[in-house]
Amino acid sequence: MVLGQNSVTLNPDLTTNNTDPHARPAPRLIVDLPAIQDNYRTLQSMASNSSVAVGAVVKANAYGLGAMEVLSALARAGCRTFYVAHTSEGEEARRALAGFDADIFVFNGFWPVEIPALRAANLFPVINDLAQVESLRLLAPDLPFGLHIDTGMARLGLGDAETEKLLARPQILDGLAPRQIMSHLACADDPEASLNTLQRRRFQRVREQFPHIPASLSNSAGIMLGAQYHFDVLRPGLALFGGCPIPGQENPFKPTVRIEAPILQIRDIKPGDPIGYGSLFTATEHMQTATVAAGYADGLMIACGNRGFGRIGQVRTPILGRVSMDLISVDVSAVRGQVSPGDPVSFLGQDLETLARNAQTISYELLVRLGLRFHRVYLPARS
Ligand SMILES: *Cc1c(COP(=O)(O)O)cnc(C)c1O
Repeated sequence: MVLGQNSVTLNPDLTTNNTDPHARPAPRLIVDLPAIQDNYRTLQSMASNSSVAVGAVVKANAYGLGAMEVLSALARAGCRTFYVAHTSEGEEARRALAGFDADIFVFNGFWPVEIPALRAANLFPVINDLAQVESLRLLAPDLPFGLHIDTGMARLGLGDAETEKLLARPQILDGLAPRQIMSHLACADDPEASLNTLQRRRFQRVREQFPHIPASLSNSAGIMLGAQYHFDVLRPGLALFGGCPIPGQENPFKPTVRIEAPILQIRDIKPGDPIGYGSLFTATEHMQTATVAAGYADGLMIACGNRGFGRIGQVRTPILGRVSMDLISVDVSAVRGQVSPGDPVSFLGQDLETLARNAQTISYELLVRLGLRFHRVYLPARS
């Protein structure tokens, strides 16, 4: 912020011949790797005992933040178990984890065509039905794998009938190399949901048949439900990236990512002036607005129009009217005369959950929709 100067003064950064991309008037995404490491440690401190391992779910490019940088930061914080959705994500994870002895599980199942790729990158497929178990036995009995039990979500994993078959004939797994048995909670973000208890009991029953296979049930929200839900390996994603696992509860995790987009133009608006496409906002009083270089192509979704907000310093700057592809207008009346073109407006950060709620979505979606054209700045991880 260029305090005390009027709005036509150019930010000095923009007047130099600077080739440093940091100085360009383009939106930057700032990813705080030490904060991700701190969140990992917070999760370790929440684990019911020291023999519970904290894994990391890093699908979708580490929730949009950048797999290469995030995985190596997590490995340096001590993480040795990672989960992705796709085999190609697993391959990237393996590259990111070069030099670390880490297990990488691929949630989306076992496809014979992928055996060579799984072997080459040393990835463990998570098997979702007994037919996949049989094809594993035929084609790659030595390949380590995870086994997903569906305890109440009807999404992935052995359903009720297949689970009963497995319990009646546990030797189905003999001669194979199971490395983890897992299930996933449908309603963990609602501690009152009775399905949580039911899923835990169903999982416990399977787990008792296979006490020697490490068991994993809880995502970020499941971890908050308490020790009974922890089993052997925790599977947080959102919490690592600063999201609040249980809406309405205090968030023990640090923000890890913010957008910083420069102001391109400052406007003085009078009552009756409409702003943006469709004139979805009309001023009712004199206002000062800033047109900012970020839009829905960068992940500030259309639904943030008239509902979201950014910040200049700690001051909130509400988004006015519709979000454009590359631009938004924000109300800077509260810092009138104190901001200039080139000054940054920030988004997300501490406001991730509020912004998601205002846009009627969830923080997960805001994260994974962060755009690709940011200049990404990674605050260096601790080793
Ligand atoms: C995405 C995912 C997780 C992580 O969930 P968060 O709520 O982000 O902690 C864990 N397990 C499975 C199977 C998942 O798909």
